[in-house]
Amino acid sequence: MNSTPSRPPSGDHYDVAILGAGLAGAMLAAVLARNSVKVLLIDAATHPRFAVGESTIPYTSAVTKIVAARYQVPEIDALSGFRTVHEKITPMCGRKQNFGFIYHREGHPQDPALTNQMVISERQGTETHLFRQDTDAYLYRVAVGYGAEPRTGTRVTDIKIVPERGVMLRTDTDEEFHASYVVDAGGFRSPVAAALGLREEPTRARTRSRALFTHMVGVTPYDQVPAGRSNGQPVPWHHGTLHHVFDGGWLWVIPFDNHDESRNGLCSVGLTLDERAHPRPDRSPQEEFDGFLRRFPDIAEQFTHAKAIRPWVRTGRLQYSSTRTVGDRYCLTAHAAGFVDALYSRGMTSTLEVVNALGWRLIEASRDGDWSTERFADVDTMQQGLFDVHDDLVYSSFVSFRDYDLWSAVLRVWHAVSILPTVVVQRALRSYLQTGDDQVFRDLEVTDTPGFPRRSATTSPRCWPSPGRPARRWSPVPCPRARRPSVCSPGWTRLRSSRRPSSSAIRPTSSSR
Ligand SMILES: Cc1cc2nc3c(=O)[nH]c(=O)nc-3n(C[C@H](O)[C@H](O)[C@H](O)COP(=O)(O)OP(=O)(O)OC[C@H]3O[C@@H](n4cnc5c(N)ncnc54)[C@H](O)[C@@H]3O)c2cc1C
Repeated sequence: MNSTPSRPPSGDHYDVAILGAGLAGAMLAAVLARNSVKVLLIDAATHPRFAVGESTIPYTSAVTKIVAARYQVPEIDALSGFRTVHEKITPMCGRKQNFGFIYHREGHPQDPALTNQMVISERQGTETHLFRQDTDAYLYRVAVGYGAEPRTGTRVTDIKIVPERGVMLRTDTDEEFHASYVVDAGGFRSPVAAALGLREEPTRARTRSRALFTHMVGVTPYDQVPAGRSNGQPVPWHHGTLHHVFDGGWLWVIPFDNHDESRNGLCSVGLTLDERAHPRPDRSPQEEFDGFLRRFPDIAEQFTHAKAIRPWVRTGRLQYSSTRTVGDRYCLTAHAAGFVDALYSRGMTSTLEVVNALGWRLIEASRDGDWSTERFADVDTMQQGLFDVHDDLVYSSFVSFRDYDLWSAVLRVWHAVSILPTVVVQRALRSYLQTGDDQVFRDLEVTDTPGFPRRSATTSPRCWPSPGRPARRWSPVPCPRARRPSVCSPGWTRLRSSRRPSSSAIRPTSSSR
């Protein structure tokens, strides 16, 4: 795809300049442009480009449906389930019918009893292993199709913010762009965080992990290796995202080739390690990965014929956070604001939550010209909450990795805190589709537990149109292509473990961190 179709004149003034045309930037640009906001979408790279973060969860899909319906961008709805991704976007993605967790103890054969699988029933929908280079390029095209001004292959090198007036961006092509507001969707390199010194040093995250990851060919489905054949799980491990868990870290296996219609033989593989127990060694990532496989021969069986087809990426500590994510004339989206760990696949979900919360605020600001910081303040509260909730979950998980019963208990906590918010947002969407009242979603933001949607939102009388109270509706420009999305699927199903945790399982061992 030629991603530099036309060059916007650099003297123009935009309502919103978005840095980064990835999942966050491109989706927000589509939402805004669809609703007549004048948007500049600028990226240092060109599509298609590699991006990590491939595994969706039911919450991701539920919020995707909300964004599509609420802002009347039906093309976004195609991202909310495996079938529509496959048919409408790309045949390169994998399907995710389960979350599989296999517990390993170094020096011991893998015990089939120490496994957990959460099945997403096909009747309720299928999650996706997104091949991000294709799905991000698709979103970029959608944004440009609705009128966002694209500028790719252009790096933002300098940012000046004058609170009373707006924002000036300077690029490596020596151009200047002016906007009333800047959204930084630039990922962990966040130009706004760098320019304004927003990074929290040191980060408040308690999790301490680093990662090495790549795409591979020739990864054997775990169901076909000796240890995997005897697990007796409800659905094949290969039909979902597989997590190998062990004391000190975890390994993800995200196949794109796990269905008959796939055109993609790749598999995303990533090793995440506690950086204190496993400091970065003085050898190549491939050698480090091979060394890891020697410690876990049952896992190694899966990689006997595997080969990395792109250079490994090896990170330093993954965690970073920001003191503020919203300020005068700017907002950072989730991945620019902070990151914890890929465990539980919450990154894209947080990204979509922020896009959803920013969308209506930016549309209203562009209509009434009021860009005051207070208007966006709740987005910061939400983002900081999302970060802290995820850090609590992941930190607890790393502590528990040393003992299966404790790990199994933490997994149940994750299960509980994942299901309830999913059901809440799915019910909110159903209510919205019945009433058309945008207040349903605004109520969700009001919560005393930032990072979780308000639980009572769907039972609140405000969610239902009362006699005499007109529904609060969006009034975007009518779109001839718009269609009503189908009602979202009700949720996911069961967590299976072959072993129940003992009563002592939730007591941390004396050596817990
Ligand atoms: C190791 C790892 C594994 C992950 N796994 C998962 C997962 O399984 N599931 C999940 O939901 N999430 C996962 N995530 C999180 C997920 O990757 C992010 O939530 C998601 O990619 C965020 O998208 P984004 O558009 O904000 O950022 P990105 O996709 O990083 O896009 C940022 C864009 O900004 C551009 N940019 C940067 N600087 C500049 C500049 N100065 N000027 C112009 N452009 C610039 C870049 O070129 C890039 O295109 C993972 C993250 C990591 C690090």
